[in-house]
Amino acid sequence: MPLAEKKLIQQIRRSARGGKSVVIGIGDDCAVLRVPPGHELLVTTDFTLEKVHFRRDWHRPELVGRRCLTRGLSDIAAMGGEPRAAFLSLAVPSDVPQKWVRRFLKGLLDLAAEFKLPLAGGDTAQSAGGGGIQADIVVVGSVPKGKAVLRSGAKAGEGIYVTGELGGSAAELARLAEATPVGAESLRHIWRFSGQSRPQARVAAGQWLRQHRVASAMIDLSDGLSTDLEHICKESHVGAEIEAEAIPRAQAGPGKKRVALELALHGGDDYELLFTSAAVVPSHIAGARVTRIGHTTPSAGMRLIGPDGKKRPLHAGGWEHFKGDS
Ligand code: ADP
Ligand code: MG
Repeated sequence: MPLAEKKLIQQIRRSARGGKSVVIGIGDDCAVLRVPPGHELLVTTDFTLEKVHFRRDWHRPELVGRRCLTRGLSDIAAMGGEPRAAFLSLAVPSDVPQKWVRRFLKGLLDLAAEFKLPLAGGDTAQSAGGGGIQADIVVVGSVPKGKAVLRSGAKAGEGIYVTGELGGSAAELARLAEATPVGAESLRHIWRFSGQSRPQARVAAGQWLRQHRVASAMIDLSDGLSTDLEHICKESHVGAEIEAEAIPRAQAGPGKKRVALELALHGGDDYELLFTSAAVVPSHIAGARVTRIGHTTPSAGMRLIGPDGKKRPLHAGGWEHFKGDS
């Protein structure tokens, strides 16, 4: 292993914290994890790729690191689970300054500290030129046996709810894109976030919803409301009706204007929770505002109810939807 990699691993080892679930962390061939009796493991893995998910000239390295871990945490949150340990595999081309990597790690480890989540291992390699920076985050969590909240648990006639506000990340990316002369092609998959937004995985809210048996089905909003709602509908064999006016829209930009409905409907990277429930749902859960935006239906498909009460078909737009508009 080249010296630079050894040094980097030493650095990571020094700054990574332990945790009650980690028996053996960084330094051996495998990490050894402990989970409470009666729990099942949750495992999620997510890529963060340069030029696919972020641009070095648009996004601060700390924020890229933070987003990288947020994606994993948010998946654990969406199952109602408790994050136990994270693993980071990192491939960096030789022309990337060490400083970039240090700042990326700082963003990631600062967020890990907020959640008291240990970084228990990973892999480090130099990637061949042209590939850009590639990071894969694995988050291991746990949940009491049989209690994970699935996408498939929704029934017809339940309320549909979201935490927080939607469209903020999408609005910020749209602004960045306007300010930067790039072709629509390069905008396709780029995350819609800027240096200002600080994503917050809704781990505590997800756990509350599971513990109190309030959520029948749940998913985190990473690709956009319309796309992620469709996942719940398909897995649960239900349809959905969403009231346009009810969708909580983020305020963004210098004037703190409410973002466009399209961005709240189809924008990605919000990392809020979307869930269905037949129960009484509080207006705030674990510090997150909760809004009812519609209900599930026995007939398949998604419909958007406008302010005039008219229904029109709603299709999964996600980030695919407005890639051509930029
Ligand atoms: P191996 O050859 O067994 O893969 P490595 O030399 O790659 O071992 O890694 C040594 C230790 O450092 C292992 O515990 C591994 O999990 C950890 N490690 C390597 N890279 C990272 C990383 N990017 N983040 C966290 N831990 C890492
Ligand atoms: Mg290795």
